[in-house]
Amino acid sequence: MYAVFDALKFVLWRYPCIVFNMKNSLVAFILLSFVISYGQQSNIVDFQRVEALLVFNQLAVDSTTYNAYEVDFKILKETDSIFLDAVNMEFKHVALNNSAVIFKNDGEKLIVYSDFEAGEVSKLSFIFNNAPKKAMYFLGWENEGRNQIWTQGQGKYTSNWLPSIDDVNDKIEFDLKFVAPRQYEVISNGVLKSKTDNLGNILWEYDMQKPMSSYLVAVALGRYNSITEHSESGMPLQYFYYPEDSLKVEPTYRYSKRMFDFLEQEIGVNYPWQNYKQVPVHDFLYAGMENTGCTIFSDAYVVDEIGYNDRNYINVNAHELAHQWFGNLVTATSGEHHWLQEGFATYYALLAEKDIFGDNHYMFKLYESAVELGRQDIAGSGTSLLNPKSSSLTFYQRGAWVLHALRSLVGDTVFKKAVKNYLIKYQFSSVKTADFINEVEALYGTSLKTFVSVWIKQKEFPVDAAFGLLQNQSTFINEYLMVDCQAKSSKCSDYLKYYVSDEAKVKVISQMPELVTKDTFKHGFKVRQAISQYVTKIPKALKEDYETLLDDKSYVTIENALYNLWSSFPEDRAKYLSKTRNVIGFSDKNVRLLWIVLNLNTPFYQADNKQGLYEELLSYTNERYDANLRIKAFQYLDLMRSCDERCQINLDNAKTHHNWRLVKFSKELSQKLQNKE
Ligand SMILES: [Zn+2]
Repeated sequence: MYAVFDALKFVLWRYPCIVFNMKNSLVAFILLSFVISYGQQSNIVDFQRVEALLVFNQLAVDSTTYNAYEVDFKILKETDSIFLDAVNMEFKHVALNNSAVIFKNDGEKLIVYSDFEAGEVSKLSFIFNNAPKKAMYFLGWENEGRNQIWTQGQGKYTSNWLPSIDDVNDKIEFDLKFVAPRQYEVISNGVLKSKTDNLGNILWEYDMQKPMSSYLVAVALGRYNSITEHSESGMPLQYFYYPEDSLKVEPTYRYSKRMFDFLEQEIGVNYPWQNYKQVPVHDFLYAGMENTGCTIFSDAYVVDEIGYNDRNYINVNAHELAHQWFGNLVTATSGEHHWLQEGFATYYALLAEKDIFGDNHYMFKLYESAVELGRQDIAGSGTSLLNPKSSSLTFYQRGAWVLHALRSLVGDTVFKKAVKNYLIKYQFSSVKTADFINEVEALYGTSLKTFVSVWIKQKEFPVDAAFGLLQNQSTFINEYLMVDCQAKSSKCSDYLKYYVSDEAKVKVISQMPELVTKDTFKHGFKVRQAISQYVTKIPKALKEDYETLLDDKSYVTIENALYNLWSSFPEDRAKYLSKTRNVIGFSDKNVRLLWIVLNLNTPFYQADNKQGLYEELLSYTNERYDANLRIKAFQYLDLMRSCDERCQINLDNAKTHHNWRLVKFSKELSQKLQNKE
């Protein structure tokens, strides 16, 4: 008898490559021929704590990890077997309380057989290796890209890379350890207890104190720097960034601390975890993911001072932070109650934005989502909020609307106290819609049956009630609704002068772009952006003012203005290209790509460099660039009918990417090109 985990940890840590050669000395693999059905087992066994060590292969090129694992569990009901979800893994040295045990690996689960007695507390340990096909992604190791490994549990299942429990209702304390080459940071849930250097590798030991659902486990590996600040309550907030992005840290993470402090105050329950880390990664599947204490987000949100104005991280930042309470501390038992996660996160992110940008911003966002929800119903695709197959629009925006309407009905005091009671009562466990409503009813003293049936249960979004609320609560929205130039009234040119908000002016410009005059350019950022968007054929009289848009602090405005000026005034094409030749734009290089394409279509401008520019455009279709940039580059090459053999090789290669948008795009474009031939 010996402690399997400690011994294996030692071996794995020092000699990762030995794992495969180790003699299978403890247990023989035993295959069982009978079939048992495995539904949820959360009433049979409570998995309590997982300690796992993951060793990333030196170069990670074969996407394989070699790992040791130990889990403590308590039997709740007598049973002859328990299981862990574990997809396509190999197991060795499987032991129950340090003794060999009978087990079965069916490719989906590790099933362990024993006479488990109720109340028994045991330890299961093993080593495993696997090459995850999803949920853990290895990026850039095969070319000179950005070497990263990162995970996405929700929707993909953590059990693809770490034995765990797909059922969200069993919450486990995960203490993960990693071995990785020295040049990389390894970031995971919990507190980094120690970092030990050994022969070029580092052992990273993370520690959590509280349990969570398995889909919230995460790790990110890559080259990062970080800075840490502390919330008013003393919580460490750690912001990771690529070493070359130090100037983007401030605009990217702007208001992080303020939003953290705001949410702690507003929710009335302290942030429930030990620290909060945020990590941008390359080619992420979504905008962000709220892994417990360790949000991973798309590096498309890493922006400079100018990009901040167009496409900042604030809303995603606040949304993932709000999930740390709503989703991570209390977790919806099933898809039917998914809005308890997304609706709450959307609502509290809106409140955090309201604290920064004011009431009108908050009301306008609610207005926009009410319009979209109304349209969804008209299109016939609306659903009850409790339908697990609802669209994200329903889960997120209708969910947020429910909370806004509920708070308007019961008042601030009842609403805030009820949310607090709900979080405290159900902390570290799972929740249903009724659990929340009951807490509100208890304080409100009146049944919410009608409210629940109208706002939550019925299929249609109560669009009239929503508009009624907005009109009662906001003069800004009333004005916005009143300003309408669909019918092209004579008042419309007055609206553009001064009377109304910038949002209302944007609406007028979108409806009657011909009303834009030299004076309209004197308004703010949003109005000028709307000019660049809707005034596409530029009248001579506006030429000079329009040219000033190229100096705006917005990559969206610059991209629009450059194209419209270039096409409206052919005689000045060289001037516009010279002025914008050093502008790159967002991480998808929106301005640079347009600039290259316009240059290639301007015969006498920098004529000797055309081939070099074409090569540059072509290079952006390569797999070392992110999916959005590649899509844009393919689109431009297709537009110019210049997707040559090299472009088509990259297109074929894009079909196996982990990003489904790129896959869909590349298959469609490929088909289109074939049809043409
Ligand atoms: Zn969310």
